[in-house]
Amino acid sequence: AKPHVVVIGGGYGGATAAKYVRLWSAGEIDVTLVEPNPAFVSCPLSNLVLGGSRRIDDLTVSYDRLTTRHGLRVLRDSARAIDAGKRTVLLSGGTQLRYDRLIVSPGIEFLPDALPGMAVSGAYDGVLHAWKAGPQTVALRAQLEAMPDGGVYALSVPLAPYRCPPGPYERACQVAFYFSRHKPRSKVLLLDANDDVVSKGPLFRRIWKEHYAGIIEYRPGFKTVDVDAGTKTAISELGEAVRADVLNVVPPHRAGAIASQAGLANANGRWCEVDFLTFESTQAPGIHVIGDAIQTAPLMPKSAHMANQHGKVCAAAVVDLLSGRAPYPAPMLTNTCYSFVSDVDVIHVASVHAYDAAKKTLLVVPGSGGLSAKESPLEGSHAFSWAANIWADTLA
Ligand code: FAD
Repeated sequence: AKPHVVVIGGGYGGATAAKYVRLWSAGEIDVTLVEPNPAFVSCPLSNLVLGGSRRIDDLTVSYDRLTTRHGLRVLRDSARAIDAGKRTVLLSGGTQLRYDRLIVSPGIEFLPDALPGMAVSGAYDGVLHAWKAGPQTVALRAQLEAMPDGGVYALSVPLAPYRCPPGPYERACQVAFYFSRHKPRSKVLLLDANDDVVSKGPLFRRIWKEHYAGIIEYRPGFKTVDVDAGTKTAISELGEAVRADVLNVVPPHRAGAIASQAGLANANGRWCEVDFLTFESTQAPGIHVIGDAIQTAPLMPKSAHMANQHGKVCAAAVVDLLSGRAPYPAPMLTNTCYSFVSDVDVIHVASVHAYDAAKKTLLVVPGSGGLSAKESPLEGSHAFSWAANIWADTLA
């Protein structure tokens, strides 16, 4: 029988890894991808749904091509338990899968005890995170549409590292863009646990001043430690209470639940440490972890672009290992994160990350990458092309 690779999670990391194991083994390795969602919904561009210039359907891509074109088995189920000794994965539906190598890309879960008020039943129906694209994104857009002009939308940002460093600031721009056109007396209040804008700071700050003055108010150092979901109030570590008409809280997070359940989250109990040559867990041989769930290398963002790159380095290493070859010793990864500051204007940050054999980690190549000088519609068209390309690369 052919070797069998099981992949948990059909997001940016998992779907890429699954497809590329099939491609680079020329079909000589069987791949099963386990994902509970019926279709892929992209977080990148999902802030545009809040701004009103895109719909969730525009960001939804079928998994069908992975099966019809690449011969993967896609199971609509979730992984419930991993037995690293027996090399098996138990699915919620009762199926047990045996693997030769396992790739785990479950994204994030919110820390269960970080915000006691959110543990109240139904809290997440009123106070949305929309930090996993899908029904919450659509529901948050509906809350913004229902909010009267003159209302306050507050977004609580957790301490870094979190998924998508520029994402909250892009979201502030998108909501402010919508308000500027439809509800000009309304406010966006950015409650940031960090002491400064985490990504593209000078660009975002200038854009807020030039385009959204009087709409966006930025409050650094506001560390939300609790939420009253009933009154839509965020409470800071210092006891300040901020009430909003639409309260959007991104809770602190860690590697997706299956990673901690399987004991893979060995960095502060939150993230999964890996060997950057193969993305194999430092905790469990034969299990690889990629995407947002890993303890990142220095200056490596938790991004879709990065998860896609992890997926490829990992897929190549898994194919090599299962074919009795040593993995490639010098992987090189790239990242570009675009942020929409209106419906068309975009800024980007880019970087290149090379493996450093002495330090056994990925380090930013000095002088590589960079930042936009200014927002522009040209970068907007690059950003839409980036999305179309990465969806094709991951899923088609
Ligand atoms: P995901 O893409 O979240 O995939 C995880 C998958 O695992 C999910 O489909 C989930 O259903 C599945 N899963 C979880 N548990 C199980 C289980 N037990 N069994 C089976 N399946 C399971 N990145 C960029 O590069 N550019 C951007 O412009 C950008 N914009 C963003 C905007 C927003 C608002 C947000 C929230 C994020 C943005 N990101 C962006 C970040 C990007 O979305 C993430 O970094 C990326 O999705 C990480 O990929 P992943 O594979 O780790 O996780």
